[in-house]
Amino acid sequence: MAETIFSQIIRRELPADIVYEDDEVIAFRDINPQAPVHVLIIPREEIATVNDIKPEQAELIGKMVLAAQKIAAEEGIAEDGFRLVINCNRHGCQEVFHVHLHLIGGRQLRGLSSS
Ligand code: 5GP
Repeated sequence: MAETIFSQIIRRELPADIVYEDDEVIAFRDINPQAPVHVLIIPREEIATVNDIKPEQAELIGKMVLAAQKIAAEEGIAEDGFRLVINCNRHGCQEVFHVHLHLIGGRQLRGLSSS
C-alpha cells in the first residue's frame, strides 16, 4: 500500500500528540478533533483499510480496542462513555488509508441515525 502521513507519525518524522504506544499500536490526538477527546489508534503495521485485515491480524485489531479502553480510562471518559469508529473507503468517508480507530468522547454524542 502507499505510505500515508500516519507512517511519518510512527517514525516521528511528523509531530503528533502521542497518548499511548506499545510494540504494535500507537495512539495520538486527532489534528481536527470532533469532541473534547478525539484520539486515533493505529497499528504500526501498514494496513490500508478494514477490507485488507487478514485473519492473522485479528489479535492486532483487538489490541487497538484494548488500547482505546485504556486511553478512555486515562482520559476520564470511560464511565460516561465514548464511541469507537473505523471508517472504510469512500462511503465510510475514509481519508487516511492506514487503518485507524477513532476514540471520540468527552461530550454527549448524537445518535448514528443522522450519519
Ligand atoms: P478518516 O476520515 O480517514 O477516518 O480519519 C482521518 C483522521 O485523521 C481525520 O479525523 C483527520 O483529522 C486526522 N488527521 C489527518 N491528518 C492528520 C495529521 O497529520 N495528524 C493528526 N494528528 N491527525 C490527522
